[in-house]
Amino acid sequence: MPVPDIHTCECLNCQNKADHPDKQLHHQMNLFFSRLDEQQRRWYAALESDRIGQGGDKLLSLITGLDDKTIRRGRDELAQQLASRPVDRVRRPGAGRPLAEKKTLR
Ligand SMILES: [Zn+2]
Repeated sequence: MPVPDIHTCECLNCQNKADHPDKQLHHQMNLFFSRLDEQQRRWYAALESDRIGQGGDKLLSLITGLDDKTIRRGRDELAQQLASRPVDRVRRPGAGRPLAEKKTLR
């Protein structure tokens, strides 16, 4: 497996030379992102964007490098209870019974 590529945030605060608390946060977000798969990324970005509110999609797009279209898609999927995204994760032992066995992407 290739070493995950960690995106560099492109928001104004991170571009600025001066220290800013967001720098650490945005780096951590991208670090976290580097371990998520594509669908998890857009769900997380959508959640963070909703937390920010107005301008959230644009900011999340700068931070993560995701397209704002992709973030909107994540939001739509969450709004639909992820019904279109079957559970395909292998669960940790003891973490509960797997739901219906379904293989999808990956
Ligand atoms: Zn940033």
